[in-house]
This record gives sequence, C-alpha cells and structure tokens, in this order.
Amino acid sequence: MDFAPTPRAQQLCEQVRDFVATVVEPATPIYVAQLHESGDPHAHPPVMEELKAEARQRGLWNLFLPDTEHGAGLTNLEYAPVCEILGHNPLTPEATNCAAPDTGNMEILHQFGTPLQQEQFLRPLLDGEIRSCFAMTEPWVASSDATNIASSIERDGDHYVVNAHKWFTSGAASPRCRVAIVMGVSDPGADPHRRHSMILVPLDTPGYRMVRSLPVFGHDAGGGHCETLFDNVRVPAEYLLGEEGGGFAIAQARLGPGRIHHCMRLIGGAERALELMCARAQQRVAFGKPLADQGVIQSHVAESRIEIEQARLLTMKAAWLMDTVGAKGARFEIAAIKVVAARMAQAVIDRAIQLFGAAGVTDDWPLAQMWTYARTIRLADGPDEVHLMQIARRELRRYEAFRP
Ligand SMILES: Cc1cc2nc3c(=O)[nH]c(=O)nc-3n(C[C@H](O)[C@H](O)[C@H](O)COP(=O)(O)OP(=O)(O)OC[C@H]3O[C@@H](n4cnc5c(N)ncnc54)[C@H](O)[C@@H]3O)c2cc1C
Repeated sequence: MDFAPTPRAQQLCEQVRDFVATVVEPATPIYVAQLHESGDPHAHPPVMEELKAEARQRGLWNLFLPDTEHGAGLTNLEYAPVCEILGHNPLTPEATNCAAPDTGNMEILHQFGTPLQQEQFLRPLLDGEIRSCFAMTEPWVASSDATNIASSIERDGDHYVVNAHKWFTSGAASPRCRVAIVMGVSDPGADPHRRHSMILVPLDTPGYRMVRSLPVFGHDAGGGHCETLFDNVRVPAEYLLGEEGGGFAIAQARLGPGRIHHCMRLIGGAERALELMCARAQQRVAFGKPLADQGVIQSHVAESRIEIEQARLLTMKAAWLMDTVGAKGARFEIAAIKVVAARMAQAVIDRAIQLFGAAGVTDDWPLAQMWTYARTIRLADGPDEVHLMQIARRELRRYEAFRP
C-alpha cells in the first residue's frame, strides 16, 4: 500500500487550503449575518453563490466525482486528503459542490440514471443550480435495516404512484431543493433484497409535502432534517432509478463513497479542533502557567493526535481498497472507518470543547457545531451497531466449526 499523495492531490490540497483560509473563512461571518437577517434557518445566504463562483473559477468543483467528464477524476485515495480539508469549515463542501446529500445522489444518478434523468436532474446538480434530498428512513420502522422500508411505489400505467411517510430527509427544507430520491416497496412478494425500488420525485409534484424540519440537538439549520409526506404522488415511469426491484442495491452503492466522504470530512473537523485546542492551550493561563504546560492537557493533545493519525490511516486503507478492489471488496474497512472516524472526531472535539471552558459550548467557536455533526454521523448512514454487526459476523464466520 502506498498512501503518498500524488502531485495532483498535493496541488489540490494546497489550492483548497488557500481557498478555505483566504475566501471561506473571511466569508463565514457574512454568511452567518445574512442567515440571521433572513429570519429563516433554511435560507440560502447570497454569499454562498459568491463562494461557489470563486471555487468554480479556481477549478475546485465536483472534486468528489471520480469521473473525468463531470468531476475532478480523482481516485478515492487522492480525494481523501482533499476532502479532509473541505471538512475544516462547514461551508466549504457546499461552496465546492461536494456536499452531502447531493454528492451521493449525483453518484447514483451518474451510475444508474438514464440520459433523460441525467439531463433533468444530474446536470443541474453538477452545475450547483439545484439541490436534492434522499428519502429512505421512515418514522414507523427500524430503518437501519433497509429491508424494513415500507413506503410503496406502485406502477399505474405509464406512471408510478408513491405513498411514503419519511423523516430525516436531509436538505428537503432548502428553498433550492428540487428533487427527492425516494425508496419504497414495488413488489411486496419478492425476496426482501429485491422488493424495493428508487424513484425520482420532483418536489413540485402534487401530493408531496414537507411536514416539518426536526431540530437536531435543538438546532435547525442548513436544509434541515425533514419529515416528508408523499400522498398518492404520481410520477412518470421514466423517473424510476435503475431497474424495478433494484432499490436495495442502489442504496448499497450510494452508501460506499458517501460513508467514506463523511469520514474524510470528520478527520478534517478533528484536525481543526486540535489546531484550535493547541492555540488556545498556548494562550490561556491558569494557575500560573499556560494550559499547554499542564500535563493533563498535554495528554489530551497527544491522545488526540494519535487518534487522528489512526483514523486517517484506516480511511486511507479503505480508500485504497475502494480504488483497487471496489466498494464491495472494501465494505468491511468502510464499515470500520465509519465507526472509528465518528467516534474519534467526537472524542477529539469534546476534548477541545473542555479546553475552551464555557466558550467551547457557545456558537462563538465552531466546536459545538462540529461536535453535533460528529455525534449525528454515528447514526446517519447506518448506526455504529450495524457496522459492528457486519464486521463481527465476518470475524466469527471463520470460527463456525467450533459451534457445538
Ligand atoms: C442528522 C441525520 C441525518 C440523516 N439524514 C438522512 C437522509 O438524508 N435520508 C435518510 O433516508 N435518512 C437519514 N438519516 C437517518 C439515518 O440513516 C437513520 O436514523 C439510521 O439509518 C437509523 O435508523 P433509525 O433511526 O430508524 O434507527 P433504528 O433502526 O430504529 O435503530 C435504533 C438503534 O437500534 C440499534 N440497532 C439497530 N440495529 C442493530 C443491530 N443489528 N445490533 C445492535 N443494535 C442495533 C442502534 O443503536 C440504533 O441506533 C439521518 C439521520 C440523522 C441523525
């Protein structure tokens, strides 16, 4: 395994670092002020369009897509250090058109979409003209097991009729969100892994309703995490994504790259928290000396550095495997890193919050927001326990002969 960054990745890292430091960071207070003035937590502050234009002009656009025609053409291993820097400031992923849930949606539209679907939905997404959401999770069933998904997608002539009650449809409250990818049962009698399909639903279709945005740890921001209702929503049959019964397989395909991107951003977030922690430890004096000279604080700093390096190496290994044997062959490493990166980021950011004292839990510093993100990732895209189950099953399978 060779994890040395390629010259292309190195150059992009420098460019993204410069973009974050000289463009995104100075624009962040403007973004916050514009959002506050709008009075709407889901508003789209105009400064974001300026950031997008600047990123595009610098060639920092659609960096996540391995395809050279539509994206930067980076391998997963090349993208890892770049994506990490995107995680330093929460505005950077959207500014560079590398934000979830659009990235995952663009990937499956790229992989499974028909030319019509790509023209209507993928092209405007790639151009950053619209946003999208992914509606799989439902309030009434344990959605960590995708075979439980109970909404229906029924064929009716040259249309499909969608009846779905979803929640945690991230991004649906954004005024720029135009399309949902909805998962539902299309053949209740089929094998559990062939029962579901996915369909594209434009959000102006009659019968669709965004019921509410669910605050997360008391905060409602960005495009929200929404409860959504699809009541007898009729969409043309051409909007079915992939084949009928292929919904489960598409869900699996979507989660591979999406999960590892979350991990890369989380490592970037943890790295930023450690930077803040170290600078603050040098400045702040308590009991006659800088916090940096206290043994307990030094131990927190050292543990954080070790944990970040460990998580980074495992992420690189997962990325390398994705590039060399494909997402399926890398699934255990992806499962492992999904657990490790979120837990690591949560722990490192938590130490940073503690070091900042009361300031750490306020919005004057980005730490509280970063901690919230890390904590929610332990649930989003599959809770830790499901990944642990998959890893444990593989380990235990090798010892089945010992069963009485
Ligand atoms: C911030 C955020 C954003 C999200 N965005 C989206 C989105 O855009 N689109 C979307 O469709 N969904 C989204 N989700 C939903 C997320 O994917 C689900 O919450 C997740 O898959 C778990 O499903 P559930 O909430 O129904 O929990 P359940 O399936 O009810 O599971 C509850 C708990 O049971 C335990 N558990 C489950 N399985 C096992 C097992 N095998 N062994 C041991 N314990 C187990 C785990 O502790 C788990 O947390 C988001 C969630 C969050 C928090």
